[in-house]
Amino acid sequence: MSGAGAAGRRRFTGANWKMNGSGIEGISWLETVQAAAADGSLAGLDLVLFPPFTLLPVLAEGARGAGIVLGAQDVYYEKKGAFTGEVSAAMLIEAGCSWVLAGHSERRHLMGESDEMVSRKVASAIESGLGVVLCVGERLAERDSGIETEVVDGMLSKALEGLQNPDPSRIVIAYEPVWAIGTGRNASPEQASAMHGHIRDTLRRITPGGFAEACRIIYGGSVNPGNAQSIVSMPDVDGALVGGASLEALSFLQIARAGV
Ligand code: PEP
Repeated sequence: MSGAGAAGRRRFTGANWKMNGSGIEGISWLETVQAAAADGSLAGLDLVLFPPFTLLPVLAEGARGAGIVLGAQDVYYEKKGAFTGEVSAAMLIEAGCSWVLAGHSERRHLMGESDEMVSRKVASAIESGLGVVLCVGERLAERDSGIETEVVDGMLSKALEGLQNPDPSRIVIAYEPVWAIGTGRNASPEQASAMHGHIRDTLRRITPGGFAEACRIIYGGSVNPGNAQSIVSMPDVDGALVGGASLEALSFLQIARAGV
């Protein structure tokens, strides 16, 4: 299995555990992934687990054994200093991380993270050697007013403006409509595909070279084993970012295998 979609981009599936999970649950989750990987059926897929910060060192060894990489749910943009409660990119790398989420809607809307902060986080993570899953998406009122593409374009351009030569192997865009996150109401495959096509067009405009064609654009928002296939097999959808349904390893694996 190549793990690449129709356009030749390698499929990317992320498990965002948010503030859930324990060490014991994490180890057992990774054992399930490791057993599933034994037949080679996950080769060629990019699988990233984003557990809470405290579980990163606990799960690093198990993740290596399962062939899955670890990511953090957030990062701070300063390198060190008096920033109580924050964690730098270098600290995440030391804890075994290769990826980080930036601009998740729960951070933007519950914690008040601005576009400016997201942009600084993206730049700092990339400069330090991490890969970034940049989350963008409109709220329900914005979609209802017909401004969803403007909202998403604004988030994209502000977050990427500080990068000179973005590397598509280290930047993934997650389109996550806020009204679909944790609500059980996913975007329809057509809505997702339309926005992903729009995002790719915007990337063609604002990024250099072949970045836009190579960049993975994944969908997040109430993805589950029942709806994954219909969403991730749409044009321009290169995988999924999964919250609630990723807490069960078998559900996550079913989603990761959808569309390949
Ligand atoms: C998320 O947190 O990124 C997410 C998509 O959550 P859920 O799958 O639970 O909607």
